[in-house]
Amino acid sequence: MEDFVCPRCGNRDPKYIGYKNGFPYCRFCISLRGENAPDYSYSGGEAILSLKYDLSKEQKEISERLIFNFKRGYDTLINAVCGAGKTELVYGVIEYALKRKLSICFAIPRKDVVIELEERIKNAFPNNKIVSVYGGNTTILSGDIVICTTHQLFRYNNYFDLIILDEIDAFPFINNSLLNVMYAKSKKGVAILMSATPSFEILNEFSKDNHEILELNVRFHHKEIPVPKIVIRPSEIKRLYILSFLKKHIKDNKQVFIFAPTIYMAEAIFDFIKSFFKNGNVVHSKKEDRKQIIEDFKKKKYMFLVTTSVLERGVTVKNLQVLVYRADFSLYDTKTLIQISGRVGRKYDASEGEIIFLADSISSSMEEARRTIISKNKYLQNMF
Ligand SMILES: [Zn+2]
Repeated sequence: MEDFVCPRCGNRDPKYIGYKNGFPYCRFCISLRGENAPDYSYSGGEAILSLKYDLSKEQKEISERLIFNFKRGYDTLINAVCGAGKTELVYGVIEYALKRKLSICFAIPRKDVVIELEERIKNAFPNNKIVSVYGGNTTILSGDIVICTTHQLFRYNNYFDLIILDEIDAFPFINNSLLNVMYAKSKKGVAILMSATPSFEILNEFSKDNHEILELNVRFHHKEIPVPKIVIRPSEIKRLYILSFLKKHIKDNKQVFIFAPTIYMAEAIFDFIKSFFKNGNVVHSKKEDRKQIIEDFKKKKYMFLVTTSVLERGVTVKNLQVLVYRADFSLYDTKTLIQISGRVGRKYDASEGEIIFLADSISSSMEEARRTIISKNKYLQNMF
């Protein structure tokens, strides 16, 4: 029998090939099935970028370089620290492509971030049709800018003239060969990849011809990244520490995220806190109304949220203070702790904040996250 190669994902591993009525089919990409996007046609008015603030000098330089690379067909990797204002970097090249009525995609591994980004892109390009596509939201697949989860890229075959892929080191995209294949298939033109912690493989790939790596090491407001404070407390005392942390910040009208490693722990901590502080909630992947809860939090209906790592990326809240409960838990690797720390101090006029790693003992990931942030701040100091 001839070897079967899946026309969709290129899989040829017999382990993932099934037979129906004697015909082979691919079981590897079976989870990525559904309607394909219709052919693209530009539907917007005049593409005008509407930004209510200026980019920093560093952001402008990268933004212009991205347009240059787009024109000459180079793929670019942007290596940028959390809070450096990565999204703003690509507005220029998006505007350039929109004016030429080209098809554009902004893909991110996680749905929560897609939803948040949709609002920002809509504000930036008010004359264009912006659509978001993610599991449960797949009715409209075509627009001038498609913002989607990396899972949805299978619907776009050789489609995008400009594809921007953010948080490439995040679950579930990282190490997922199927999603990587679907990304490659959806790309027709030029790619821009963004990451705060690019892997060795990606850095290697972008060191080749027709590729470029650009670094943005500076937060757009030129302030330092808050350094995590490590607090070691025995088990019951930890809960009291959380209460005093909440009390201090809520009194100052500052909102708080409390990260917990598991859904069970998140629920348990929330149960404990809610008898002391009424104005909070808990979010995790099993919480169905979490989109609404996050919206309400942004509107300050809640002063605190207990959360699992679902809020590790993407959500930007002014004056946010963060505590990581059981930061020594094995699930919190260095990258995750750096990402979480990056939640704090993201707004220009509120760039300071507290980030606490509350733990039984100091893990090597906690140490390393702290050390990385301190060394990034040193880099900053040497620049200005
Ligand atoms: Zn397949």
